[in-house]
Amino acid sequence: MTAVAPLRRIVIVGGGTAGWMSAAALAKLLGPPYELRLVESDEIGIIGVGEATIPHIRAFNEALGIDEDEFLRATQGSFKLGIEFVDWGARGERYIHGFGKVGRELGAVPFHHYWLRLRREGRAGELGDYSINTAAPRECKFLRPRPDMAESPLADIGYAYHFDASLYARFLRHHAEQRGVQRIEGRIEQVLRHADDGRIKGLRLASGELVEGDFFIDCSGMRALLIEQTLKAGYEDWSHWLPCDRALAVPSAAAPPLLPYTRSTAHAAGWQWRIPLQHRVGNGHVFSSRFIGEDEARSTLLAQLDGAPLAEPRLVKFLTGRRKEFWKLNCVAVGLASGFMEPLESTSIHLIQSAVTRLIQFFPHAGLEAVEIAEYNRQTQFEYERIRDFIILHYKASAREDSEFWRYCRHMQVPETLRHKIELFRANGRLFREGTELFTEMSWLQVMVGQGLLPAGYHPFVDQRPLAEVQAMVDDTRSVIQRCVAVMPGHAEFIAAHCAAT
Ligand code: FAD
Repeated sequence: MTAVAPLRRIVIVGGGTAGWMSAAALAKLLGPPYELRLVESDEIGIIGVGEATIPHIRAFNEALGIDEDEFLRATQGSFKLGIEFVDWGARGERYIHGFGKVGRELGAVPFHHYWLRLRREGRAGELGDYSINTAAPRECKFLRPRPDMAESPLADIGYAYHFDASLYARFLRHHAEQRGVQRIEGRIEQVLRHADDGRIKGLRLASGELVEGDFFIDCSGMRALLIEQTLKAGYEDWSHWLPCDRALAVPSAAAPPLLPYTRSTAHAAGWQWRIPLQHRVGNGHVFSSRFIGEDEARSTLLAQLDGAPLAEPRLVKFLTGRRKEFWKLNCVAVGLASGFMEPLESTSIHLIQSAVTRLIQFFPHAGLEAVEIAEYNRQTQFEYERIRDFIILHYKASAREDSEFWRYCRHMQVPETLRHKIELFRANGRLFREGTELFTEMSWLQVMVGQGLLPAGYHPFVDQRPLAEVQAMVDDTRSVIQRCVAVMPGHAEFIAAHCAAT
């Protein structure tokens, strides 16, 4: 790999969530002699969807020194305790994938094995009864975790946010500009490369201005202006496993109660999201154009809104998959430029966060090291693939056969890594988080059980304890959670007291 002078001039291409998250994070860490510039085009705009998150984003905001209440006020944000899946396992069924713990610590054997024993004998409730993150949303309650109550489920509430994507980008922009990021408005018309090794040299804007840099972060969204259009990094297509390739998105009027969770409702050829914000609800129908037409997808979406639509539904096309190289030469792709996965588990903004975190770990200081670039790409690929598997699980582990789409999903081959995970769970309920994969055993458990996948057996040590003792422990877990939920305030009430937008 070419040894170049220290990389000081960093140019971020794009001012969507990816661009401004990258800018804000780097600006926090880098001062002179580094120079951070961000080029974006108001004329092109941002994708403007991407409003549901997972709990990790709290660490990102905290690292930037962002005050949570201020952030929620500025973005019309609400709290999210999990995702409710409606009609996914079978029509008429619903479950919540809650953040945080299920059950409690019972020694070497995970709680769910005890639950499985009782469940088999008809002596236990739904899995969701044993997690505060599923019990509280059912009653529309919310409370920030109480670490001072160490033994209580209230200490362990996991939560994330819903927010207005455009307002979040604006909020981060303000933050980044205050820390010295220079924003350049303009449409990039040409990308210039070094003649010797093909590295990117600069960007020619429509105005004629030349923006030169040493290192480029491609946050240009699905256009992938640098990583693909210029550097031809290549794309691995996953649409045979995840056949949805379109979304119609529409905001609707706020419809109380303000739910502290995202809802995902399965339809005949895809699913519909519902994201409650303070001032409106975000909705969208993710569907597969192989199985349903756009008109039908639009009418399905509009028929399921709780409030009046506030705009015409907007169509977004996508191809699920990942960039073959996320980092190539002196360019790293972050956000939609790096790949696309449907927002079923709200993972894209997290992938931005982890790309930025990884980039910081691997930040080049004296030239570009092939071994570091390869490792960055390997880690990112692993992360992408494990999330992909988790999303495929929702389609594969469904009993639905009521449409061509669902029949396709039920009978398709899945990646070997996922097949193995399902088989392992199906046998005796065993689940293992592999390395740094994003989703924990708790997440896999909730989705597998929620989709109707129950193991044949459970851990043999469970039978070492008398049934009455197991029953008492499991029942006690549920009643403690019920008592905790009873003292939690309503979600809307909590927001009104702490972070209502003005
Ligand atoms: P964009 O927002 O598209 O930004 C691209 C930027 O590049 C813009 O500023 C544009 O102006 C600039 N640009 C492009 N070309 C040029 C040029 N030639 N010159 C100058 N500037 C240029 N993620 C979640 O985590 N949760 C969700 O609930 C969720 N829902 C989603 C729903 C849908 C239907 C889709 C499609 C995605 C969803 N995502 C979600 C993903 C999320 O929207 C994105 O990860 C996030 O918005 C980041 O987008 P981005 O910044 O990469 O791209």
